[in-house]
Amino acid sequence: MPATSTVDLSTSPEGAPLQERFSKAYEYSDCWIEDSRLVVLNARDAQARGADIMVRTKVSGAERHADHWVVTLNNQQSGETRTVSAKMIVNAAGPWVGDVLNGKLGLNSREGVRLVRGSHIVVPKLYDHDKCYFFQGEDGRIIFAIPYEGDFTLIGTTDADHSDPSEKPECTPEEQDYLCDFASRYFTKPVTRDEIVWTYSGVRPLYDDGAEDASAATRDYILTLDENAAPLLNIFGGKITTYRKLAEGALAKIGSQFDDLSGDWTAGVPMPGGDFPVNGVAEMIAGLQRDYSFLTQKWAQRLVRAYGTEARGVLGGAKTASDLGEDFGATLSEAELNWLRSHEFARSAEDVVWRRSKLGLRMSKDQIARVEAFLTA
Ligand SMILES: Cc1cc2nc3c(=O)[nH]c(=O)nc-3n(C[C@H](O)[C@H](O)[C@H](O)COP(=O)(O)OP(=O)(O)OC[C@H]3O[C@@H](n4cnc5c(N)ncnc54)[C@H](O)[C@@H]3O)c2cc1C
Repeated sequence: MPATSTVDLSTSPEGAPLQERFSKAYEYSDCWIEDSRLVVLNARDAQARGADIMVRTKVSGAERHADHWVVTLNNQQSGETRTVSAKMIVNAAGPWVGDVLNGKLGLNSREGVRLVRGSHIVVPKLYDHDKCYFFQGEDGRIIFAIPYEGDFTLIGTTDADHSDPSEKPECTPEEQDYLCDFASRYFTKPVTRDEIVWTYSGVRPLYDDGAEDASAATRDYILTLDENAAPLLNIFGGKITTYRKLAEGALAKIGSQFDDLSGDWTAGVPMPGGDFPVNGVAEMIAGLQRDYSFLTQKWAQRLVRAYGTEARGVLGGAKTASDLGEDFGATLSEAELNWLRSHEFARSAEDVVWRRSKLGLRMSKDQIARVEAFLTA
């Protein structure tokens, strides 16, 4: 990636949307990921390597025996309960790691995570170039503004303590004001609450290191192995950036049973659909449009960004848009819905329009209701 450089805001396009009092910025390069795609593709990758993926299934209890665990699984959709036996448990429940450890496995551990909510707002596009801004605030925090889904700008985040993982995190009116006010100290045109088209929040499961301030709590991960004839590995904290390193570290701890998966082999292994060169995206979009002449540029781009080389699997042998079946709006077709259901475990409209894509930003309530009806029929 390019080295860090200095930007003269008085002459550069990056300076155009900012208030005149800002004259100088520093530019660096970074990577980004659509986190919901990352999660589902990891699940598919694991499935291809022999894992059983059970969506909507909760560990409701587990009993430790001499050399194995008996785990009770509860399917939240069908209500069905069953038990499985396991040589070991890896507790990777994120914000719920303490709940699983103490509540479901019945162990009495003082280790835990500090739950810190981060909220975001999405507003119509605030500027035309494709770079992100990091703004520094008077409170010592930073926020970002990122070009989002073509027509929008994403502004985030906050750091708010969130004590109960079962409480759905939501961007509160106070957090919305905080983000609008913060961004308005930088952009020429103030960002106002009535512009917000969508908000979302997540809960960071940070290892509880006793820090006073939520934004100062460590972002490092901690792996603890409860060694026993029936071992238990707990994962506290973690970041998307380091998730593969964390996974390799986890396997190193429980390693001997998984010789074929241990080691640092993941660096060059793509996710499903990611088997193409990093700089090959434009060519793939053009190729898809060549072979499926009914695709617009934006449609082809969306499919390549979401599915990579598997976009062709989604489209199959279609010669026209109507060969893809019903059109649900925002280029979401029946063929794509069927793919999401059969390959990506989608069960509801929310899975599709928010958790596997961000098409919800472009779809009406009626269109989303139609997706729900299709998937639950
Ligand atoms: C606002 C925000 C911003 C962030 N920004 C960044 C960033 O810029 N860079 C970065 O690298 N990281 C970032 N992170 C951190 C990153 O998103 C998390 O560290 C990561 O998602 C944690 O993944 P995980 O698999 O450990 O937990 P999760 O993704 O939370 O997965 C835990 C899973 O366990 C399941 N579960 C819970 N209880 C049970 C049970 N009883 N039975 C079965 N399943 C159960 C849950 O349903 C969930 O699917 C951010 C996080 C937030 C919230």
